[in-house]
Amino acid sequence: MSKYIFITGGVISSLGKGIASASIGKILESRGLKVALMKLDPYINVDPGTMNPYQHGEVYVTEDGSETDLDLGHYERFTNTISSKFNNITTGQIYNSVISRERKGDYLGKTIQVIPHITDAIKERIEKCALVSKADIVIVEIGGTVGDIESLPFLEASRQFRLDMGYDNVLYIHLTLVPYIKAAGEVKTKPTQHSVGTLREIGIIPDVLICRTEEPLTDSVKEKISLFCNVRKEAVIESPDKDSIYQVPLVFKEQILDEIILSHFKLICKSSDLKEWERSVVNRVLNPKNKITIAVIGKYIELQDAYKSIYEALIHGGIHNDARVEIKRIDSESLEKGKVEKILEGVSGILVPGGFGYRGIEGKIKAIKFARQNKIPFLGICLGMQCAVIEFARNVCGLASANSTEFKQTKYPVISLLEEQKKFKDLGGTMRLGAYPCKIRKNSLAFKVYEKGLIHERHRHRYEFNNQYKNLFEKKGISFSGIYPQKELVEIVELKNHPYFIAVQFHPEFKSKPDKAHPLFREFIKAALSSKP
Ligand code: GLN
Repeated sequence: MSKYIFITGGVISSLGKGIASASIGKILESRGLKVALMKLDPYINVDPGTMNPYQHGEVYVTEDGSETDLDLGHYERFTNTISSKFNNITTGQIYNSVISRERKGDYLGKTIQVIPHITDAIKERIEKCALVSKADIVIVEIGGTVGDIESLPFLEASRQFRLDMGYDNVLYIHLTLVPYIKAAGEVKTKPTQHSVGTLREIGIIPDVLICRTEEPLTDSVKEKISLFCNVRKEAVIESPDKDSIYQVPLVFKEQILDEIILSHFKLICKSSDLKEWERSVVNRVLNPKNKITIAVIGKYIELQDAYKSIYEALIHGGIHNDARVEIKRIDSESLEKGKVEKILEGVSGILVPGGFGYRGIEGKIKAIKFARQNKIPFLGICLGMQCAVIEFARNVCGLASANSTEFKQTKYPVISLLEEQKKFKDLGGTMRLGAYPCKIRKNSLAFKVYEKGLIHERHRHRYEFNNQYKNLFEKKGISFSGIYPQKELVEIVELKNHPYFIAVQFHPEFKSKPDKAHPLFREFIKAALSSKP
């Protein structure tokens, strides 16, 4: 039978609950346990697929093609788990399933209520994840902040879980903020007390508190938190700001959080070993020999979270190559008005990530032209590949008005919609989603990068390269080195006379890990380092 850890957040959002959850997963895995991680999202959307990045941040795509919360990216990067649709639940999904059951008559005669029908549906989904994953411990992160109206059914379901499963099989961890007040010259525990108080009103008494803090917590502060919040002192864990998120498992380990969890569950496990993680990830990310600047040309660059997996994958490429990757986030619209060579001065590599809609496209195309002409290493991802194709069509093949039909009707639709996409009326969940095989041509850059001829990568797009233009492009110097064989779809394009110019229709960033950088990012950083100005 699985054990369950519920992780809630208090005081404010953005405390790093996802990273805390992933780090707990990491330290438990290092004790030889099989873990599964879940995120419960309180919004009413069925999934984040149709949300604007300004609202939601990155949409993380799983192998099975679910569009999910970006915290699932942290889970996969920190642990050996592979997520699926079972690892992310939204309020929208829960209501959807309850209402469709009601329409079928499954609840005949009954009034459908939040308790027990909605909470039962939530609990069923959590148990389903345990069943499918066969995990020893299921870590369930509850989105939002305690006190929000939206997250109440999730909190209520998690409260009931201990009653259903037994005291020893369920553990509650609450993540809070202990702010340092400059004027008073001390940290304040009151917000944490209030937050735990709110949780207790719901019926949840936390077993562990993780306190996010800028200043170290003294013994007396920990004692105070312990007393007022009714949590054992050793279970008051401090989580200070760190230079790298990859240090957090070590911070928890130092405070024997794994022991606290295991002794609650009465589990006896092998001792943990995070030495390899410390050596190959933490030490390398903190003390790299080299430094390099990579430009990311996007339109949500002012947001931390919109290109989360891309930024992490670049850092992973840096870890592998012993380099600190400084990411220069460039607003693609600024390139439309400004001087490209000025804005991109000093960058050693250019990455154009995925996206939707016409805004900012012309700036991305300008940056790609600059990378192509000046032999600057370039990695294009999804929309980034489509822009590379448009740029090549316009500036090398002489198809001046070439475009994607996503943006304009044009004489030269080098990127267009597949027939099968045209039949969809709904926008939610109807893109080409999840992992597809891709065959790689021998003697290509892609083959050199991947060192194999068949790969599986995750997709999230509607539009594709238009195969009518294949011959012309090949004649002009583009190589189509990756193909989805069943439908002859172009997955990878590369330039022949360039040190590193590769663009892919899929999203390699979702599969990169700190201790195993994705090959495309690893080689991109390597190429950038060797062409450093
Ligand atoms: N908008 C493009 C498409 O739908 C690219 C999507 C993406 O970059 N994820 O095909």
